[in-house]
Amino acid sequence: PGAYVGIADLPNQVYRRVVKQGFTLNMLILGRTGLGKRTFVNSLFGVNVCDVSEQTDTSKTLTVEKETFQIETQGVRVLVNILTVPGFGDQIDNSAAEEVVSRYIDAQFQDYFEASHQRKSQSRRVDNRVFCCLYFLPPTGHQLTPLDILMMNSLGLRTNLIPVVARADSFTVDEREAFRELVRSQLSQNDIQIYVFPPDEDDGDANSRDSDFMRSLAPFAVVGSNTVTTRKDGSQVRVRKYPWGTVDIESPECSDLAVLRRLLLFNHLPDLVSVTDGLHYANYVRQVVSKVGP
Ligand code: GDP
Repeated sequence: PGAYVGIADLPNQVYRRVVKQGFTLNMLILGRTGLGKRTFVNSLFGVNVCDVSEQTDTSKTLTVEKETFQIETQGVRVLVNILTVPGFGDQIDNSAAEEVVSRYIDAQFQDYFEASHQRKSQSRRVDNRVFCCLYFLPPTGHQLTPLDILMMNSLGLRTNLIPVVARADSFTVDEREAFRELVRSQLSQNDIQIYVFPPDEDDGDANSRDSDFMRSLAPFAVVGSNTVTTRKDGSQVRVRKYPWGTVDIESPECSDLAVLRRLLLFNHLPDLVSVTDGLHYANYVRQVVSKVGP
């Protein structure tokens, strides 16, 4: 336990089933309007699912909205459900936000719990449980806000929480690293439970050093873009153009986007599901059972 299993490393039988049925990734993306969440989704998956020209109506009641699309990774179909809460954190009083989100996550656990008591075979059960939450932090360089702390505290107890520093191009390299350090210390001071990408199985080889390095980047500092250009070799890349130059968002010096993509979509997708099942869902079931009594 704890060692990572990429899709290609799954036991043969499981791999064959996954290839046939595909994987589902239910990912919650939270953070204030304007932090680049929709741009990030488009950049991470190389798609244009999220319409960035549309203005978010920040006055309406907070609800969880779902956007669905399909991608392929390592020959496996992945059905991606992106869950967002438009207007999150934008009200004067944000006290409802925590309840809306935690209720949603719990409701998906409850549905799964009820389905597991009906005699549906596991393969035919729809699994809408939230497998991870990317929580977007503004690149302020300052302490986290009370809302961010409250939200992440609650999220960490319910799902695989992955804090992300948004719009990281607004930092110099030193500022970025100092902010990473500040966020890390505030997460630990506030007992916020984050998802730790597990180490590789064989300690000491190049792969696990690589994986150690990737884990040391948390919280991931990302840059996203909706502008696609063609490189000299003909390949397509997303860039951000500034008066002084162009940033390739796939370049590891500028953005942790590529690392995060590798961790999320290639190396640790099955782990996110298994931690959801074995830890977060199990906690939920334990609470339900203890409320009902023996
Ligand atoms: P959302 O409201 O969080 O979904 O944010 P959007 O994806 O709609 O982006 C809001 C604005 O921020 C747009 O003008 C984007 O072009 C811009 N943006 C997105 N990502 C980045 C980034 O990494 N850096 C910078 N500087 N701007 C970004």
